[in-house]
Order: sequence, then structure tokens, then C-alpha cells
Amino acid sequence: MRCDVLLIGGGHAHITALRWLKKHPCPHMKFKLVNPRAYAVYSGMVPGFVAGHFDRNEVEVDLNRLCVEAGVDIVYDSIVDFDPVGKTATGETGASYSFTQASIDVGIVSAPVSLSEKKGNLAVKPMSHFVEAWQQDSGNLSEGVAIIGGGLGGVELALAVRHKMNACRLPTSTPLAIVDRSEILSSSSPSLRHALCERLNAASVTIIENAQVRAHENSCLMLDSGQSLTAQLVLWTTGARAPGWLEESGLETSGGFPVINSCQQSISHPDSFISGDVASLQKGRIPKAGVYAVRQGPVLMQNLIAKLNGAPLQDYDPQKDYLKLVSLGARSAIAEKWGHTIQLPGLWGLKTLIDRSFVQD
Ligand SMILES: Cc1cc2nc3c(=O)[nH]c(=O)nc-3n(C[C@H](O)[C@H](O)[C@H](O)COP(=O)(O)OP(=O)(O)OC[C@H]3O[C@@H](n4cnc5c(N)ncnc54)[C@H](O)[C@@H]3O)c2cc1C
Repeated sequence: MRCDVLLIGGGHAHITALRWLKKHPCPHMKFKLVNPRAYAVYSGMVPGFVAGHFDRNEVEVDLNRLCVEAGVDIVYDSIVDFDPVGKTATGETGASYSFTQASIDVGIVSAPVSLSEKKGNLAVKPMSHFVEAWQQDSGNLSEGVAIIGGGLGGVELALAVRHKMNACRLPTSTPLAIVDRSEILSSSSPSLRHALCERLNAASVTIIENAQVRAHENSCLMLDSGQSLTAQLVLWTTGARAPGWLEESGLETSGGFPVINSCQQSISHPDSFISGDVASLQKGRIPKAGVYAVRQGPVLMQNLIAKLNGAPLQDYDPQKDYLKLVSLGARSAIAEKWGHTIQLPGLWGLKTLIDRSFVQD
């Protein structure tokens, strides 16, 4: 049966869109969410999960409960084909979903295709796969870990892995490295970069810059520089790409990511809306960070409803900067905004409070 709005993926933007709908019910419209599972991982708590501070159930949003409260049907499936002209999507179960409008918030995939399926290599995105794989593969970290990509997420993960190694009583000499093809933390302010590099040094994390991975065989990570590292486990935070079915859908893309206007509509197919990390803004650029997706959600839901009603749509106006609360491995955090960095004992508590209130809202 055709639905008015097919929501594909329970990403951060769809979570806040559904929360908006819960407060502003639209019983005459039929919404359906398709997500592989009943839960969605909240990225801000993943480093704490890796460090061992949180259990899996503490870092996941209950989509099932949210959909019931918002009056939305939920189906557990993974979309593998999307046709914006025929207005149907197909799931890996073989089910077909027809829609009047679609909204896509499926996040990105990290890791190059050639390595992501290889033993000992974990793509950090999609996070639900990563969280599951980490639970299975993190039992023995004694042969070393390498993190590919030195953005904020990669640095938080490195500090979290060292904390986990310490908790497992592994020696500080256990290999742990970040490899980046340029400089690590190149998008962060100088003060945050300085503070985090100090933390990485104190945690004995080897930083390798301007290097790319050539191969990973038998716990040996080979770089194009000829250097090699011991790493049984390789965590990929780089190489962001859109899922293949979306790239091939016929939606206009830039670098593989569907291009959207300021109302979050595809510029080629206005009945398809796209949000979160997988969308590429036609004008301007926003970082691939959950805080932007979270802010997109309420505007997105209002636009989906307005378009069905033939009413004018509103612009999503991205914030210029946001408060970054970066976890430091142990139960501590550092804060940064507008280039100013603060380190205070209470920041971990504040971060946990904010994160928990998002997950449990
Ligand atoms: C280690 C780490 C820490 C981070 N910490 C922060 C932070 O503290 N603050 C911050 O702002 N950002 C953080 N980020 C960035 C953040 O993870 C992303 O910006 C955010 O997850 C983007 O959300 P999204 O809405 O695009 O989708 P996602 O959160 O990626 O969710 C996508 C959803 O779609 C579902 N899905 C995927 N494929 C399909 C399909 N084919 N069919 C149906 N459903 C599908 C998935 O199961 C998932 O539920 C961090 C990133 C990393 C790597």
C-alpha cells in the first residue's frame, strides 16, 4: 500500500523529525519508517561504548517506541534499490515500498570497498554494524589496533581503544596508531588540535600523517611510504561514500552524494528529501556531524508535511559552529567552541547528561 511519506533509515535527522511529529500529530497522513533494526546507534556515545563505559543498549535509540508514539509504521528492512521516478523503494527482503514522497537519512559508509569485507577490518560507518562487530572482535586487542582517519571521531576512538587496552591490563607498548592521508584534526581549531595531540602522545598513540594504506595482511598494515605497523584490527573512519543503491538511483549527485536544496529536497527529484551525512548541500558545505542532522530533523518533517499539503517550504539554516564535547578515553572530556578550548573536571558528566537525554528522550 502506498504511503504518503516513506522514511528510509533511522538516522539522527529522522529521529528528531519523528520526535517533532510526536508533538504535532498528523493522523490523516500515512508515514512509514524502514530501518534494518528496531534501534539506531547514537554516535556521540560510541567512543564511550568502545572504551567500555556504556553497554550497547545505553547508546541506542529505541525507534520502535518512537514510531509507536509518533503514529508511524515501522518495517525492519534495508533498502537496496530506490526509484525516485516510479516512486518505489525495494528492500533486501524483496518487499516493495511505494510512496508519494520519500525522505532518506541512511548515513554514510566508511572504508574502501576493497578492504571493508576483509577480516580484521571494521568500517566505523554504518555504526550499527560497527557496534555489533566491535562486541565480537574486541576481545583480544593485544596484537595492536590502527585507526584510519584522524578526524575528531578517529581521535576519540584511538583514546577510547587505549582506555580499553589499559582496562584489559595490556602494556602501554601495545601498538596503537592513527594513520591519516594528510594532517590529523585538520578541520579542528589550533587549540583543540594542540590539546588532543597532547592527549594522544600521553596515551602512546603513534600518529602517522601523509600516509595511505596499501594492504593489511596477517596483522601487518602496510603503508604506501613503505612503513609497516602491527595491527590485528583496523578501524576505518575515512573514505566516506554513499550506499551504492543511492548513487545509482538517478538522483543528482556530487561526489556520489545526492545534492539537496535549502529545503532538503533533491535538486533533481523534489519529492525525494535527503538529510544527514549522506546529503550534499547545493549551496555551502556543512560538516558531517550528528549535530547538524539533529537540527535538520524538525525542519525536514515540517517540509514533508507542507509539501503534501501544497504549502510553502522553509529553509534549513545550518548553525555556524557548535559546542564540541570530545571524550578523552577515560571518563573525561574537552569542550571547544568558536576556537576556544576548555578542560574542566565536570565536562564528562555534562556530555553524558546531554547524550543520555538524547537517547532516552
Ligand atoms: C566515532 C565517531 C564519533 C562521533 N561523534 C559525534 C559527536 O559527538 N557529535 C556529532 O555531532 N557527530 C559525531 N559523529 C558524526 C556522526 O556519527 C554523524 O554525523 C551522524 O551519525 C550522521 O547521522 P545521519 O543522520 O546521517 O545517519 P546515521 O546516524 O549514520 O544513521 C543512519 C541510519 O540509517 C540506517 N540505514 C543505513 N542503510 C540503510 C538502508 N539501506 N535502508 C534502511 N536503513 C538504512 C542505519 O541502520 C542507521 O540507523 C561521530 C562520528 C564518529 C565516527
